[in-house]
Amino acid sequence: MNFKDYIRIIPDFPQPGIRFKDITTLINNGEVYRSAIEAIKSAVSDKQIDLVAGPEARGFIIGAPLAIALGVGFVPIRKSGKLPGAVVEASYDLEYGKDKLAVHRDAIQPGQRILIADDLLATGGTIATTINLIKQLGGVPVGAAFLIELGYLDGRDKMDGLDVFSLMSY
Ligand code: AMP
Repeated sequence: MNFKDYIRIIPDFPQPGIRFKDITTLINNGEVYRSAIEAIKSAVSDKQIDLVAGPEARGFIIGAPLAIALGVGFVPIRKSGKLPGAVVEASYDLEYGKDKLAVHRDAIQPGQRILIADDLLATGGTIATTINLIKQLGGVPVGAAFLIELGYLDGRDKMDGLDVFSLMSY
């Protein structure tokens, strides 16, 4: 299956110069969506994962079904101000804009092995911040998995030597 056939590229969204990789066209097809999750699952299944963590919002689209496929729980990494319980927070820069992420303090226990999942690796800022949050709680990031990697932005270099798997690369 050529997954790239199901990605729609929208030029100049959300601002001039960004070539937006729209994954809604991939997840709209149940068979392709399931195959993509299965392919990521196969690539990470040797990692003895305790939990999958995914950043809001598109990280939920990949991370939650991946967690179910792996038979483990899911930890939502949310924008600041959204989680109701006690949190730890960290700020970061985006390919476009700036943001702050948060995770519930009791969502990860020290020593738990965490797989990070998101739709797309761009500059790596989101995932570097997610790694930071996981480590603040004593979790052990064991890998990061994506549908798409924008290789030309060198996000991989910010992953602190973490194993990175991406289904598609541009
Ligand atoms: P980054 O922190 O730079 O790795 O990018 C984080 C998030 O921004 C990704 O998980 C995507 O959801 C979104 N994003 C950044 N660049 C693009 C792009 N060119 N197309 C689609 N989504 C993008």
